[in-house]
Amino acid sequence: MGRDTVSNGRSVNLPMHQASTMLFNTLEEFEQARDSRYQKGTLYYGRYGNPATFELESMMAELEQGAGCVAVSSGLTACVVSLMAFLNAGSHVLVADTVYGPTRAFCDNVLKQYGVSVTYFDPMMGEALAGLIQDNTHVVFFEAPGSATFEVPDIPAIAQVAKQASVVTILDGTWATPLLCQPLLLGVDVVVHSGSKYISGHSDAMLGLIVATSEENYQTVRKMSLSIGDRAGANDVFLALRGLRTLSVRLRQHAESTLQCIEWLEQQPEVERILHPAHQDCPGHEFWQRDFNGVAGLFSVVFRSGTENKIRAMINSLEMFGIGLSWGGFESLILPVDPTPFRTATSWNSVGPVVRFNIGLEDSSSLISDLQTGFKFLK
Ligand SMILES: *Cc1c(COP(=O)(O)O)cnc(C)c1O
Repeated sequence: MGRDTVSNGRSVNLPMHQASTMLFNTLEEFEQARDSRYQKGTLYYGRYGNPATFELESMMAELEQGAGCVAVSSGLTACVVSLMAFLNAGSHVLVADTVYGPTRAFCDNVLKQYGVSVTYFDPMMGEALAGLIQDNTHVVFFEAPGSATFEVPDIPAIAQVAKQASVVTILDGTWATPLLCQPLLLGVDVVVHSGSKYISGHSDAMLGLIVATSEENYQTVRKMSLSIGDRAGANDVFLALRGLRTLSVRLRQHAESTLQCIEWLEQQPEVERILHPAHQDCPGHEFWQRDFNGVAGLFSVVFRSGTENKIRAMINSLEMFGIGLSWGGFESLILPVDPTPFRTATSWNSVGPVVRFNIGLEDSSSLISDLQTGFKFLK
């Protein structure tokens, strides 16, 4: 997988492939490539993809069991391109209230500007979503689990009501990667991933991936990405192809350490709730049990109220948890999150502060002893 059709100089890993101009022997060959430039695998010009891009795309399509994949320049671009591909002026889009903040900002700041109306919905409403579908609803966009608070929606129920109304479903599946959940097999039309997270896995690449179930939807997405002129960078494609080779072993270690950290965290008197799909405190835990087959390392903790002013000192004291955006790399990260300002369809009821943890690949006993020291600041 991922290196079948390319002569790669006998190397185990596909080397980085850089190209803008591609040369043809005859004008006829050039014209043939031009006429099939939207088709998968056509070598025409660098922006349309090169052999390494096509290998990554075919590998992702196979992992998701989709008809085709389009690699783009970031996870946010994957969300943006997939939304734009299925919407036009006058369309209505239903967006889960818990989506990644910048995706929501794109809907509010750009889609509305281009005449698309946006309604946010409670991702836990399941098939009741049918009541929000209008004649001009063209897309349902959601995320499983939701960003910051990790609610797991009933993916098949949402996919089914959308399908009955001929509405395209797009799911941001970054948390689970194709290895822990396969949304296309649950009825979703298009799944998007930030390849900057677990797929590349080392916090050094920016990449997005869009996989569609049908050839028609794949073509729609590919044409939009090419119309916009976006493309995945050569180095990022190389890093993602390499990252995919170790994804399953990395995820296994992330899962083991995450469960150990959660076990320690839930015993602490300062902890109110664990928001991880694999934990019973998390809304939609039963859907995670049914539709997912593993544990990722990103989750949130709701602390008891009264700890607000001490959380900052706790975070600043940690030595093994970096402070920074993104996640899915080998390094553990920590960041306070505030779910309240973004929600409009749902309200956030917990009173205490919320902190997001990304458990990396460090030794989990070192992580726990770092947390033990840090939690002294909460006393
Ligand atoms: C990080 C993230 C994105 C955006 O990905 P980038 O590669 O950082 O642009 C989109 N969706 C989710 C759920 C994310 O966590």
